[in-house]
Amino acid sequence: MSKLLVAAELRELDRKVVWHAFSQMSSYDGLIIDSAEGCWLTDIDGKRYFDGASSLWCNIHGHRHPHIDQAIRDQLDRVAHVTNLGMSHPTTISLAKRLVDCSPGGLGHVFFSSDGASAVEVAMKLAFQYWRQCPIPERKRTTFLALGCAYHGDTLGTVSVGGVSRFHAMFEPLLFPVLRGPCPDSFRLPVGIESGQAADYYLGEYRRILEQHAEEIIAVIVEPLIQGAAGMLVHPPGFLGGLAKLCVEFGCLLIADEIAVGMGRTGKMFACEHESVTPDFLCIGKGLTGGYLPMSATLTSHRIWQAFLGSHEDSRSFLHGHTYGGNPLAAAAAHATLDVFEMERTLKTLPAKAEVLRNGLNALRSHPEVGDIRQVGMMAAIELVSDKVRKTPIPWQMQRAGQVCRQVLKKGVWLRPIGNVIPIIPPLSATESEIEILTNALVFGLS
Ligand SMILES: *Cc1c(COP(=O)(O)O)cnc(C)c1O
Repeated sequence: MSKLLVAAELRELDRKVVWHAFSQMSSYDGLIIDSAEGCWLTDIDGKRYFDGASSLWCNIHGHRHPHIDQAIRDQLDRVAHVTNLGMSHPTTISLAKRLVDCSPGGLGHVFFSSDGASAVEVAMKLAFQYWRQCPIPERKRTTFLALGCAYHGDTLGTVSVGGVSRFHAMFEPLLFPVLRGPCPDSFRLPVGIESGQAADYYLGEYRRILEQHAEEIIAVIVEPLIQGAAGMLVHPPGFLGGLAKLCVEFGCLLIADEIAVGMGRTGKMFACEHESVTPDFLCIGKGLTGGYLPMSATLTSHRIWQAFLGSHEDSRSFLHGHTYGGNPLAAAAAHATLDVFEMERTLKTLPAKAEVLRNGLNALRSHPEVGDIRQVGMMAAIELVSDKVRKTPIPWQMQRAGQVCRQVLKKGVWLRPIGNVIPIIPPLSATESEIEILTNALVFGLS
């Protein structure tokens, strides 16, 4: 009896006191999770749900993984926090070295923050300051080139480079101007463009912008391969590699925001590896600690690092920091997450799992509302449409994807929609039979 009362009270407080992210609080009705194990969440009523969104795209090896749990406990017995300003800690130092060693193309320096948006802000500010301090300064470089429908976080700097109007239009008067190219969407191609020509078409558009503006551009910022928050929009193969080549040709820096796609999500440790790209900045977040603790990192090259060196009076330092940057508890979780990638050979297991996911989702292809099914590694989505041939979106106000997710929840699977899109992002540790539970629940949800 007391348990029931407690649950009701919790629900009431959760609706009235806790202001949930990206939620309309007047009709809020979310689950309250009490505990979790592996890929399964248990709510305060004891009901179990498969974590089909990896706790918002960050869980990698499952919840309560014994190795990660133990690493955090062991770290707790030493120290929970050491400031990054003028001090350091062995766990954090060795994590930085380990990230350098697994980064694409040997990015040798790591700046730690606590969340993804901050890691992107750091990359943007470092890139800006670089052009003022590099051997031949280029002070005209004051703008970024960003992609259509980009999402890089919710702070005002990252919203400025962002381009999802539903999230970002409200704040327009507060944002700084950026140059924006088209979203290299493979699903809705411009009229007359076939899929085989898509990468070349979009790269041509970026070339045009660079030809006109290269001297003003600090950096091009991109979510490699797949734009998650925009609705899992997949780029045509070759686009990322071509964009990186354009940056070299026109002398702009490249910021790769791998906050969603890094840490194995696309089948390789980092999405840039698929197209042999070494960016000037690599932003990592979400899965960095296995989905355990807030930590993000901005990796950069020796060329950038070099431009910030000098005497104290030179004022070349990067005057930016976050109180918990490099936090040792989070660093211990990140170390353990990388350990588990090795111990469980996670990347080797992914092709077979991704195939099971692909086959399971294929069963939905003939459904009248399923306009597109897209997938890169263990990152997939279904887009719902009202007309399959014209690819007409169902008005987002109808919340059709939300209705489907509520049906799916009845089968014990938790998914979180974005507009008309249902992202399917299971933890990398999900077994093949768990992935089948997930896709079967979707078949039910859409029926
Ligand atoms: C989630 C995300 C961010 C922001 O990370 P936060 O930790 O939520 O600040 C930035 N970029 C991409 C691509 C993301 O998916």
